[in-house]
Order: sequence, then C-alpha cells, then structure tokens
Amino acid sequence: MTYQVLARKWRPRVYQDVIGQEHVTRTLQNSVLKKQIGHAYLLTGTRGVGKTTIARIFAKSIRCENLQENANPCLECPSCKAIDENTSLDYIEIDGASNTGVDNIRELIDNVQYLPSNGEHKVYVIDEVHMLSVNAFNALLKTLEEPPAHVVFIFATTDPQKLLGTVLSRVQRFDFKSVDIETLSSHITKIAKEESIQFDSPKLIQELAKHGKGSVRDTLSLMDQVMSLSLDKKINEDILLMSLGLAKTQSLSGLLSGILVGDKETCVKAFKNVLQENVDLEKFILQILDSLFDMIESLDASNNIETNLVDKKLLDSLSVSELLWVYEVLAKDFEWALKSLDPEKSIMFTLIKVALREQIINPAPANINKTTEAVHQEFKQQEEIVQEDEIEEVEAVEEVILEAPKPVVAKTWENFIAYAMTQFKAIASNLERGNLLHELNLDTDVLNIEMGISESDKIFHEYLGAPENKEKIIMMLQDFFKKESSFRMTLLDEEQKEKKNFSSIADIDEKKIQDKQDERKETILNNKHILEAQKLFDTKIDKIIINKD
Ligand SMILES: [Zn+2]
Repeated sequence: MTYQVLARKWRPRVYQDVIGQEHVTRTLQNSVLKKQIGHAYLLTGTRGVGKTTIARIFAKSIRCENLQENANPCLECPSCKAIDENTSLDYIEIDGASNTGVDNIRELIDNVQYLPSNGEHKVYVIDEVHMLSVNAFNALLKTLEEPPAHVVFIFATTDPQKLLGTVLSRVQRFDFKSVDIETLSSHITKIAKEESIQFDSPKLIQELAKHGKGSVRDTLSLMDQVMSLSLDKKINEDILLMSLGLAKTQSLSGLLSGILVGDKETCVKAFKNVLQENVDLEKFILQILDSLFDMIESLDASNNIETNLVDKKLLDSLSVSELLWVYEVLAKDFEWALKSLDPEKSIMFTLIKVALREQIINPAPANINKTTEAVHQEFKQQEEIVQEDEIEEVEAVEEVILEAPKPVVAKTWENFIAYAMTQFKAIASNLERGNLLHELNLDTDVLNIEMGISESDKIFHEYLGAPENKEKIIMMLQDFFKKESSFRMTLLDEEQKEKKNFSSIADIDEKKIQDKQDERKETILNNKHILEAQKLFDTKIDKIIINKD
C-alpha cells in the first residue's frame, strides 16, 4: 500500500472531525437542519485551516439524500459519492488561482441557469476567489445580484481585503481561526495513537504543534516529514528537531551557555557543530531567541531564571540587565545577519560580539544591576572614549612629523641662497647678483665669505652693504652653515671679471635658461614637418616664441 499523506488521510469527512472551527461548523449545521440555505457564503482564513474541507462537507450535507444526525452527510448516497469522486454535475469546484479568466467564469455562469440534475441545489465552490480577474469578478457579481433559487455559492479566500464591498454585502461571511497549539497537540496525539506513532514525550508533540503555526494541514505535513526520518514510527527529540530544521538540544544548550557566560570559544565551537546538523538558519535563530525569551519570561520576583537548557550555576553571575541586553542585541543583529551576503559568517560574528561583551563594555564590578539603557549608555561612552583616543593618536603622529629630522641639504652656496629666499627674499635676490670669489671652505673654524659683484651692479653692492642687511646675511650664514661667519664684498671691473672668469649667479641662471631655450628652438627648427612646411611654402621661420613654462 502506498503511503497516503496524513493531511489527506485524516481530512475531516463530517462536521465533528473539523478541529478548531466549531463557531463555523455549528452555524452551517444549523442552517442545513433548518433548511435555511443561503445563496452565497464566504469562508476566510489562513491556509490549511479547513476552508475547502468545510465547503465540501457543507455541499455534501446540502445535497445528501440520507442526511445523518447533526446534519452530517451520509457519505454513501449517490450525491455524496459523486462529490467525493468528482463526478457530480451539481457540484462544481473552481480554483480561482488557476482559473482567473472571464471565460471560465462565463461558462460557469451560463450553467448556473440550469436546474440541478437531481436534488434541490447546485453548489459552486470558488477557492481563492480574490485571485479572479476584474472582468471575471464583475460577471460573477451580476449573478450574485439575482441568483437562481437553486444555486449556492461558497467562496473561500485567504485575502478577504481584496474583495469588493459589493461581494461582501451579498455573502454570509465566516472567519476561520488559526488553530491553537493545545488543539493541534491533541489532534496530533489522536492521530499518533491511530497510526501507532510513538513520541518520546508530550513535549515533542507540543514542539511539532508550535511549528504548525495554527494550520492543521501544515502540522500534518510536518508530521509526515518527521515520520520520513523515522524507521520504526518512533519519534525522539533529535529526529523531530532535525526534520524541523532545528538544532539538537545539546548543541543549543552548548551555544546558549557560551552566549550567557560570554565564552567566545564555546560559542564558535557550538555554532560550528550546529552548522553540521544542517539546520535551517532562520529557524535556528528563532530557536535561540525563543529559548532566551523563555528565560526572560521565567524570571521570578527574586530574578531567578527557570531553564533546563543551561546549568543554573552558570547563570549566577548573569544580571537581568545583561540577559535583556543579550536578547536585544541578538534579535537586532540576527535580523541583519540573515539579510547579509554571508549569513553564516554574520551569525558567527554576532555570537562572538555578544560573547565578548565584557571586553566591549568593560563594566566595573559595581555595574551588576544596570538597566539595558545603562549598558547602552556605557557603550556610548566607550565609543566616545575610543574616538578621543583616536584623536590623541592623530595629534601624536603630527608631533612626531614635526620633530622628524629634516632632509639633509648640501652646504653649497646655491642652497644658501635658496635658504635666504625663505628668510629675506629681497636680500637673497640681491645676493644672486654676485657670486663667490673662492671655493667654500667649511673646514675652518670661521667661515669667511668673499663675494664679488660687477661694478655695473654697484647698486646691489650698496644695498647688501647696508649694516642692517649685512647683519641679516651673517645671521643667515651662521644659521645655514652652523658656523661663525664673516661676509665681505668686492666690486669687479670688466678686466677683473674676465681674469677671474667671473659670472654672477643671476647671469649663470639666465644663461642656463637661454641655453635651454636655444636648444628647444634648434629642435623645433630641425623638426621634419617644420622643414617640409618651409619647403612647401617656400619660406623661412622668422620667430620662435617659447613660453616660460
Ligand atoms: Zn449522502
């Protein structure tokens, strides 16, 4: 025999088998018993709570030829069987999600006019009615305005907000509830007993029910999943957690211990173990947060924590504020981690961050009973201190730069002039009009400078000879050459200049610039294209102007 999924096998066939929706079933049963059948019903609620199941039971009970107690269908008569076998001409089920077009609805509406092949009512079930196209919906609305007496519409939707008010005003509406954990648990227990499935403890059934999230169908699908991992219909905790994509309790408690004690190594090791268990990261994160939340919820008046996951002794040094802080940070950071490019690494990072909180916050011993806000304040102050430290470091670096030895400048006359330019520019410019009459001799105790100036440049000689300027020159010489210095000038006539092969620094610089310009002019004149151009136009270059830069 092939395995039949539990949700199908245990699909309710009579009203009392439907769980958690008594407020709906009772009303429908009564209307059948009183023979007060409406023309249109709307069943709303999340997926898997029994909307289409109830629609079918209701349809059968409306058309049953041998109605049972409590308005239950007999399931044996030709009408009941035809509906079960999908051969009924008077029961039409349409999925709004896959038959959204107006053509499907028009065909349906055309048939609405005809009387049922037998019995009093024709029943139309339209599932996910909100998915119908606007045109299809409008066509349906017209029929709803004046429906033939024999027609019953049953609409089902997970999204009633998408329906027009005109539809809502023409239907009897039933809102299905999400099924609570206790109801789901007893449903699981009942099915487990019938199917000879053994759960190690009722706690496991509760855990399973919790993950069903209020849906009977989803809960039974999860149960199928758990069963597929068990060879002998015995469900232990590891099998359950693995099939739900959750971490094993041992791994979870190891990780929680690491988090609460603030032990980075334990956290890293436990998380790596968890990853090998093929957990669903999102579910695993919720598992951690749920466990911490349970601890917070368990706090009594003396701030004792009730938990089986962590050794109580480990919790002795944990303050309430710290526990709250840990939960808050994990909740925020895990959300970010899941959306990050590498969720596994980001989750690991978050765990390490929380484990290293002592180092980050660096609390003093007196900080034990701080509020979360106080801990945050501490973090803020810490951040400010870090920033101040950074500023101080930057300043220190600048000081080091200022004190660093300057690059060694060769003790030449040209370099002295360059230095003088930074001190007294006018004096430096005048000094350029002369030149040394000797080699620089730095070996003597006193540096004796004798500078020649052309007689034609007497004006500079006078300027430099002025006592205040001479004083500055000597001062600069001593600063630059680090030696006691003397300064003398000699005026040179043309004969003396020629004899000594004398040129002022200004003349030398001028000549250098001139030579460079001549060189460039020569290059331009000898350029292949320029030569060709001259030939072509039978002309000669008259002038070449070279810009300074
Ligand atoms: Zn029947």
